[in-house]
Amino acid sequence: MTLSELRQDIHAHPDLSGEESATRQRIRQFLAPSQPSEMVEVGGTGLLAVYDSGQPGKTLLVRAELDGLPIHERHDLPYRSTKANHGHMCGHDGHMTMVAGVGQALLEQPPQKGRVILLFQPAEETGEGAQWVLDDPAFADYQPDCCVALHNVPGFPLGSVVVREGIFTPSVESVTIQLDGKTAHAAEPELGVNPAWAMQEILHLANALRNLDPNADDYRLVTPVEIELGEKAFGTSAGHGSISFTLRAWTKDRFDQLKERFTRKVTAICDAHGIRHTWQWVEPFYTTRNDADTVQLIRQVAEQQGRQIIEKDMPFRWGEDFGRFTQAYTGAMFGLGSGEDQPALHNPDFDFPDALLPIGVSLFAGIIQAYCNDS
Ligand SMILES: [Zn+2]
Ligand SMILES: [Zn+2]
Repeated sequence: MTLSELRQDIHAHPDLSGEESATRQRIRQFLAPSQPSEMVEVGGTGLLAVYDSGQPGKTLLVRAELDGLPIHERHDLPYRSTKANHGHMCGHDGHMTMVAGVGQALLEQPPQKGRVILLFQPAEETGEGAQWVLDDPAFADYQPDCCVALHNVPGFPLGSVVVREGIFTPSVESVTIQLDGKTAHAAEPELGVNPAWAMQEILHLANALRNLDPNADDYRLVTPVEIELGEKAFGTSAGHGSISFTLRAWTKDRFDQLKERFTRKVTAICDAHGIRHTWQWVEPFYTTRNDADTVQLIRQVAEQQGRQIIEKDMPFRWGEDFGRFTQAYTGAMFGLGSGEDQPALHNPDFDFPDALLPIGVSLFAGIIQAYCNDS
Protein backbone atom coordinates (compact mmCIF):
# COMPACT_ATOMS: atom_id res chain seq x y z
CA MET A 1 0.00 0.00 0.00
CA THR A 2 1.40 3.41 -0.96
CA LEU A 3 1.19 6.42 1.32
CA SER A 4 -1.45 7.99 -0.93
CA GLU A 5 -3.55 4.82 -0.75
CA LEU A 6 -3.26 4.77 3.03
CA ARG A 7 -4.19 8.46 3.25
CA GLN A 8 -7.21 8.03 0.97
CA ASP A 9 -8.36 4.91 2.82
CA ILE A 10 -8.21 6.84 6.11
CA HIS A 11 -9.92 9.81 4.45
CA ALA A 12 -12.80 7.59 3.33
CA HIS A 13 -13.30 6.21 6.85
CA PRO A 14 -13.03 9.09 9.33
CA ASP A 15 -13.53 8.55 13.06
CA LEU A 16 -14.56 11.25 15.50
CA SER A 17 -12.57 12.26 18.59
CA GLY A 18 -12.26 9.42 21.10
CA GLU A 19 -13.68 6.86 18.65
CA GLU A 20 -10.58 6.23 16.57
CA SER A 21 -10.20 2.45 17.09
CA ALA A 22 -10.72 1.57 13.41
CA THR A 23 -8.32 4.29 12.23
CA ARG A 24 -5.78 3.10 14.79
CA GLN A 25 -6.12 -0.42 13.41
CA ARG A 26 -5.34 0.83 9.89
CA ILE A 27 -2.20 2.57 11.16
CA ARG A 28 -1.16 -0.46 13.21
CA GLN A 29 -1.45 -2.77 10.19
CA PHE A 30 0.46 -0.36 8.00
CA LEU A 31 3.27 -0.02 10.57
CA ALA A 32 3.71 -3.73 11.31
CA PRO A 33 6.09 -4.41 8.36
CA SER A 34 8.32 -1.54 9.55
CA GLN A 35 9.12 -3.71 12.58
CA PRO A 36 8.82 -1.26 15.46
CA SER A 37 10.41 -2.47 18.72
CA GLU A 38 7.01 -2.06 20.35
CA MET A 39 3.51 -0.89 19.60
CA VAL A 40 1.51 0.24 22.63
CA GLU A 41 -2.06 1.46 22.88
CA VAL A 42 -2.21 4.71 24.85
CA GLY A 43 -4.71 7.36 25.87
CA GLY A 44 -7.79 5.28 25.03
CA THR A 45 -7.79 5.05 21.25
CA GLY A 46 -4.21 6.24 20.67
CA LEU A 47 -1.16 4.26 19.58
CA LEU A 48 2.56 4.64 19.92
CA ALA A 49 5.21 2.83 17.91
CA VAL A 50 8.75 2.71 19.30
CA TYR A 51 11.89 2.42 17.16
CA ASP A 52 14.73 1.78 19.58
CA SER A 53 18.34 1.79 18.35
CA GLY A 54 19.39 -0.26 21.39
CA GLN A 55 22.09 2.36 22.04
CA PRO A 56 21.92 4.95 24.81
CA GLY A 57 20.76 8.31 23.59
CA LYS A 58 17.81 10.66 23.52
CA THR A 59 14.15 9.96 22.92
CA LEU A 60 12.40 11.96 20.21
CA LEU A 61 8.62 11.85 19.96
CA VAL A 62 6.88 12.60 16.65
CA ARG A 63 3.20 13.22 17.10
CA ALA A 64 0.23 12.87 14.72
CA GLU A 65 -3.53 13.04 15.27
CA LEU A 66 -6.11 10.34 14.54
CA ASP A 67 -9.43 12.17 14.58
CA GLY A 68 -11.71 13.64 11.94
CA LEU A 69 -14.45 16.23 12.43
CA PRO A 70 -18.25 16.12 12.66
CA ILE A 71 -18.48 17.90 9.30
CA HIS A 72 -20.21 16.56 6.20
CA GLU A 73 -17.80 16.38 3.30
CA ARG A 74 -18.74 18.47 0.26
CA HIS A 75 -16.68 16.81 -2.43
CA ASP A 76 -17.01 14.31 -5.25
CA LEU A 77 -13.68 12.61 -4.64
CA PRO A 78 -13.45 8.88 -5.34
CA TYR A 79 -12.28 8.47 -1.74
CA ARG A 80 -14.78 10.88 -0.16
CA SER A 81 -15.98 10.11 3.36
CA THR A 82 -18.24 7.06 3.53
CA LYS A 83 -19.81 8.37 6.75
CA ALA A 84 -22.38 11.15 6.97
CA ASN A 85 -21.21 14.12 9.05
CA HIS A 86 -17.75 12.63 9.51
CA GLY A 87 -14.86 14.12 7.58
CA HIS A 88 -11.09 14.68 7.60
CA MET A 89 -11.29 18.46 7.14
CA CYS A 90 -8.23 19.27 9.22
CA GLY A 91 -5.84 17.06 7.27
CA HIS A 92 -5.17 14.66 10.15
CA ASP A 93 -5.50 11.88 7.55
CA GLY A 94 -2.39 13.36 5.92
CA HIS A 95 -0.55 14.01 9.18
CA MET A 96 -0.97 10.43 10.46
CA THR A 97 -0.03 9.03 7.04
CA MET A 98 3.20 11.05 7.01
CA VAL A 99 4.12 9.81 10.48
CA ALA A 100 3.28 6.25 9.44
CA GLY A 101 5.58 6.84 6.44
CA VAL A 102 8.29 7.82 8.93
CA GLY A 103 7.96 4.29 10.36
CA GLN A 104 8.75 2.89 6.89
CA ALA A 105 11.72 5.25 6.59
CA LEU A 106 13.03 4.11 9.99
CA LEU A 107 13.15 0.50 8.80
CA GLU A 108 15.51 1.63 6.00
CA GLN A 109 17.45 4.06 8.13
CA PRO A 110 17.03 3.46 11.87
CA PRO A 111 18.45 5.94 14.40
CA GLN A 112 22.02 5.10 15.44
CA LYS A 113 21.43 6.23 19.01
CA GLY A 114 18.45 6.65 21.32
CA ARG A 115 14.92 5.94 20.23
CA VAL A 116 12.06 7.38 18.25
CA ILE A 117 8.45 7.28 19.37
CA LEU A 118 5.74 7.77 16.78
CA LEU A 119 2.66 8.86 18.68
CA PHE A 120 -0.78 8.74 17.10
CA GLN A 121 -2.89 10.67 19.57
CA PRO A 122 -6.68 10.54 19.76
CA ALA A 123 -9.13 13.42 20.24
CA GLU A 124 -6.99 16.36 19.12
CA GLU A 125 -9.97 18.37 17.91
CA THR A 126 -11.63 18.41 21.34
CA GLY A 127 -8.46 19.31 23.23
CA GLU A 128 -8.66 16.10 25.26
CA GLY A 129 -6.45 13.45 23.68
CA ALA A 130 -3.00 14.81 24.57
CA GLN A 131 -3.96 14.84 28.24
CA TRP A 132 -5.34 11.29 27.96
CA VAL A 133 -1.94 10.20 26.66
CA LEU A 134 0.01 12.14 29.30
CA ASP A 135 -2.17 10.71 32.10
CA ASP A 136 -1.93 7.10 30.86
CA PRO A 137 0.43 5.00 33.05
CA ALA A 138 1.32 3.11 29.83
CA PHE A 139 2.98 6.32 28.59
CA ALA A 140 5.29 6.60 31.63
CA ASP A 141 8.06 4.48 30.03
CA TYR A 142 8.18 6.67 26.92
CA GLN A 143 9.01 10.11 28.32
CA PRO A 144 10.56 12.08 25.45
CA ASP A 145 13.51 14.47 25.61
CA CYS A 146 11.96 16.37 22.73
CA CYS A 147 8.70 16.27 20.79
CA VAL A 148 7.86 17.54 17.32
CA ALA A 149 4.73 17.79 15.20
CA LEU A 150 3.52 19.59 12.12
CA HIS A 151 0.21 20.93 10.95
CA ASN A 152 -0.59 21.58 7.31
CA VAL A 153 -1.38 25.26 6.79
CA PRO A 154 -3.61 26.40 3.92
CA GLY A 155 -2.76 29.80 2.48
CA PHE A 156 1.00 29.07 2.38
CA PRO A 157 2.90 27.78 -0.67
CA LEU A 158 2.69 24.00 -1.05
CA GLY A 159 5.60 22.39 0.78
CA SER A 160 6.85 25.57 2.46
CA VAL A 161 7.93 25.20 6.09
CA VAL A 162 6.44 27.77 8.46
CA VAL A 163 8.40 28.28 11.68
CA ARG A 164 8.21 30.46 14.75
CA GLU A 165 10.05 30.48 18.07
CA GLY A 166 8.05 30.94 21.26
CA ILE A 167 4.26 31.01 21.04
CA PHE A 168 2.99 29.08 18.01
CA THR A 169 -0.72 28.80 18.93
CA PRO A 170 -2.74 30.42 21.77
CA SER A 171 -4.62 29.16 24.82
CA VAL A 172 -8.25 28.59 23.88
CA GLU A 173 -11.36 27.41 25.67
CA SER A 174 -15.06 27.37 24.80
CA VAL A 175 -18.02 27.89 27.08
CA THR A 176 -21.78 27.65 27.09
CA ILE A 177 -23.64 29.73 29.67
CA GLN A 178 -27.13 28.44 30.39
CA LEU A 179 -29.50 31.17 31.61
CA ASP A 180 -32.70 30.39 33.49
CA GLY A 181 -35.24 33.11 34.22
CA LYS A 182 -39.02 32.80 34.17
CA THR A 183 -41.53 32.88 31.33
CA ALA A 184 -44.50 35.26 31.40
CA HIS A 185 -47.18 36.49 29.01
CA ALA A 186 -45.54 38.68 26.40
CA ALA A 187 -47.96 41.45 27.42
CA GLU A 188 -46.81 41.22 31.03
CA PRO A 189 -43.05 40.65 30.81
CA GLU A 190 -42.58 42.24 34.24
CA LEU A 191 -44.13 39.11 35.78
CA GLY A 192 -41.30 36.97 34.38
CA VAL A 193 -37.54 37.16 34.09
CA ASN A 194 -36.50 37.39 30.44
CA PRO A 195 -32.80 36.51 29.94
CA ALA A 196 -32.61 38.64 26.77
CA TRP A 197 -31.54 41.76 28.67
CA ALA A 198 -28.79 39.94 30.57
CA MET A 199 -27.64 38.39 27.29
CA GLN A 200 -27.47 41.82 25.73
CA GLU A 201 -25.17 42.95 28.55
CA ILE A 202 -23.08 39.79 28.26
CA LEU A 203 -22.57 40.51 24.56
CA HIS A 204 -21.50 44.06 25.36
CA LEU A 205 -19.13 42.67 27.98
CA ALA A 206 -17.67 40.17 25.51
CA ASN A 207 -17.02 42.95 23.04
CA ALA A 208 -15.45 45.19 25.70
CA LEU A 209 -13.15 42.42 26.93
CA ARG A 210 -11.58 41.94 23.53
CA ASN A 211 -8.20 43.34 22.58
CA LEU A 212 -8.00 42.92 18.83
CA ASP A 213 -4.39 44.02 18.41
CA PRO A 214 -2.59 40.74 17.68
CA ASN A 215 0.75 42.46 18.37
CA ALA A 216 -0.28 43.11 21.96
CA ASP A 217 0.90 40.74 24.69
CA ASP A 218 -2.61 40.76 26.06
CA TYR A 219 -4.35 40.08 22.76
CA ARG A 220 -7.78 38.72 23.75
CA LEU A 221 -10.60 37.28 21.66
CA VAL A 222 -14.09 36.55 22.96
CA THR A 223 -16.04 35.26 19.99
CA PRO A 224 -19.82 34.60 20.16
CA VAL A 225 -20.56 31.28 18.46
CA GLU A 226 -24.20 30.51 19.28
CA ILE A 227 -27.20 32.13 20.93
CA GLU A 228 -30.55 30.59 21.83
CA LEU A 229 -33.45 32.32 23.52
CA GLY A 230 -36.97 31.17 24.38
CA GLU A 231 -39.37 29.69 21.82
CA LYS A 232 -41.03 31.20 18.77
CA ALA A 233 -44.29 31.60 20.70
CA PHE A 234 -45.31 35.21 20.22
CA GLY A 235 -47.50 35.33 23.30
CA THR A 236 -44.61 34.39 25.58
CA SER A 237 -41.76 36.40 27.06
CA ALA A 238 -38.68 34.15 26.96
CA GLY A 239 -37.72 32.41 30.18
CA HIS A 240 -34.51 30.62 29.24
CA GLY A 241 -31.58 31.00 26.92
CA SER A 242 -28.02 30.01 26.33
CA ILE A 243 -25.03 31.77 24.88
CA SER A 244 -21.76 30.22 23.76
CA PHE A 245 -18.36 31.79 23.27
CA THR A 246 -14.81 30.82 22.44
CA LEU A 247 -12.12 32.69 24.38
CA ARG A 248 -8.47 32.95 23.43
CA ALA A 249 -5.27 34.66 24.57
CA TRP A 250 -1.61 34.12 23.69
CA THR A 251 -0.47 32.71 27.03
CA LYS A 252 -2.04 30.53 29.70
CA ASP A 253 -1.59 33.31 32.31
CA ARG A 254 -3.30 35.88 30.14
CA PHE A 255 -6.00 33.38 29.30
CA ASP A 256 -6.65 32.61 32.97
CA GLN A 257 -6.97 36.35 33.69
CA LEU A 258 -9.44 36.76 30.83
CA LYS A 259 -11.46 33.76 31.96
CA GLU A 260 -11.56 35.02 35.55
CA ARG A 261 -12.75 38.51 34.51
CA PHE A 262 -15.33 37.14 32.11
CA THR A 263 -16.69 34.68 34.70
CA ARG A 264 -16.85 37.28 37.47
CA LYS A 265 -18.60 39.89 35.32
CA VAL A 266 -21.10 37.51 33.73
CA THR A 267 -22.00 36.27 37.20
CA ALA A 268 -22.59 39.87 38.35
CA ILE A 269 -24.82 40.57 35.33
CA CYS A 270 -26.91 37.44 35.90
CA ASP A 271 -27.23 38.15 39.62
CA ALA A 272 -28.37 41.71 38.91
CA HIS A 273 -31.12 40.36 36.62
CA GLY A 274 -32.19 37.57 38.98
CA ILE A 275 -31.13 34.94 36.46
CA ARG A 276 -29.82 31.54 37.51
CA HIS A 277 -26.92 30.47 35.34
CA THR A 278 -24.62 27.50 34.84
CA TRP A 279 -21.30 27.21 33.04
CA GLN A 280 -20.09 24.47 30.77
CA TRP A 281 -16.44 24.93 29.80
CA VAL A 282 -15.22 22.60 27.04
CA GLU A 283 -12.36 21.98 24.62
CA PRO A 284 -9.43 23.56 26.49
CA PHE A 285 -6.25 24.03 24.44
CA TYR A 286 -2.96 25.11 25.99
CA THR A 287 -0.51 27.48 24.36
CA THR A 288 1.95 25.70 22.06
CA ARG A 289 5.35 27.15 22.99
CA ASN A 290 8.17 26.34 20.60
CA ASP A 291 11.66 25.75 21.94
CA ALA A 292 14.22 27.89 20.04
CA ASP A 293 16.79 25.06 19.61
CA THR A 294 14.16 22.69 18.28
CA VAL A 295 12.94 25.33 15.82
CA GLN A 296 16.55 25.84 14.71
CA LEU A 297 16.88 22.10 14.08
CA ILE A 298 13.69 22.16 11.98
CA ARG A 299 15.02 25.17 10.03
CA GLN A 300 18.33 23.42 9.31
CA VAL A 301 16.66 20.25 8.05
CA ALA A 302 14.18 22.22 5.93
CA GLU A 303 17.02 24.23 4.43
CA GLN A 304 19.07 21.09 3.65
CA GLN A 305 16.04 19.67 1.87
CA GLY A 306 15.58 22.82 -0.19
CA ARG A 307 12.27 23.81 1.33
CA GLN A 308 11.12 27.42 1.36
CA ILE A 309 11.24 28.60 4.97
CA ILE A 310 8.72 31.17 6.16
CA GLU A 311 9.32 32.87 9.50
CA LYS A 312 5.90 33.60 10.97
CA ASP A 313 5.86 36.97 12.72
CA MET A 314 2.68 36.27 14.68
CA PRO A 315 1.39 33.04 16.24
CA PHE A 316 -1.42 31.18 14.50
CA ARG A 317 -4.77 31.78 16.21
CA TRP A 318 -6.23 28.27 16.28
CA GLY A 319 -6.08 26.04 19.34
CA GLU A 320 -3.76 23.05 19.14
CA ASP A 321 -3.68 20.12 21.53
CA PHE A 322 0.07 19.74 20.95
CA GLY A 323 0.35 22.62 23.44
CA ARG A 324 0.02 20.07 26.24
CA PHE A 325 3.16 18.33 25.02
CA THR A 326 5.14 21.59 24.82
CA GLN A 327 4.01 22.40 28.38
CA ALA A 328 5.31 19.02 29.57
CA TYR A 329 8.42 18.62 27.38
CA THR A 330 10.81 20.53 25.16
CA GLY A 331 9.51 20.62 21.62
CA ALA A 332 8.15 22.52 18.67
CA MET A 333 5.45 22.42 16.05
CA PHE A 334 5.90 23.73 12.54
CA GLY A 335 3.56 24.47 9.68
CA LEU A 336 3.74 22.74 6.31
CA GLY A 337 2.17 24.89 3.58
CA SER A 338 -0.73 23.05 1.92
CA GLY A 339 -1.14 25.53 -0.93
CA GLU A 340 -2.19 29.15 -1.33
CA ASP A 341 -5.53 28.18 -2.92
CA GLN A 342 -6.27 25.35 -0.50
CA PRO A 343 -9.63 25.80 1.33
CA ALA A 344 -9.27 26.72 5.01
CA LEU A 345 -9.01 24.03 7.68
CA HIS A 346 -12.42 22.68 8.84
CA ASN A 347 -14.09 23.73 5.57
CA PRO A 348 -16.34 21.04 4.06
CA ASP A 349 -14.32 21.02 0.83
CA PHE A 350 -10.89 20.67 2.45
CA ASP A 351 -8.79 17.74 1.22
CA PHE A 352 -5.19 17.13 2.28
CA PRO A 353 -2.86 17.30 -0.76
CA ASP A 354 -1.12 13.96 -1.28
CA ALA A 355 1.86 15.81 -2.77
CA LEU A 356 2.80 16.76 0.80
CA LEU A 357 3.16 13.17 1.99
CA PRO A 358 6.77 12.51 0.85
CA ILE A 359 7.77 16.04 1.89
CA GLY A 360 6.50 15.55 5.45
CA VAL A 361 8.13 12.12 5.70
CA SER A 362 11.50 13.53 4.57
CA LEU A 363 11.30 16.44 6.98
CA PHE A 364 10.51 14.23 9.97
CA ALA A 365 13.12 11.64 8.92
CA GLY A 366 15.70 14.43 8.63
CA ILE A 367 14.77 15.83 12.03
CA ILE A 368 15.07 12.34 13.57
CA GLN A 369 18.52 11.71 12.10
CA ALA A 370 19.77 15.15 13.14
CA TYR A 371 18.36 14.92 16.64
CA CYS A 372 19.09 11.30 17.59
CA ASN A 373 22.48 10.91 15.91
CA ASP A 374 23.98 14.29 16.78
CA SER A 375 22.97 14.48 20.42
ZN1 LIG B 1 -8.79 20.89 13.37
ZN1 LIG C 1 -5.80 19.82 13.06
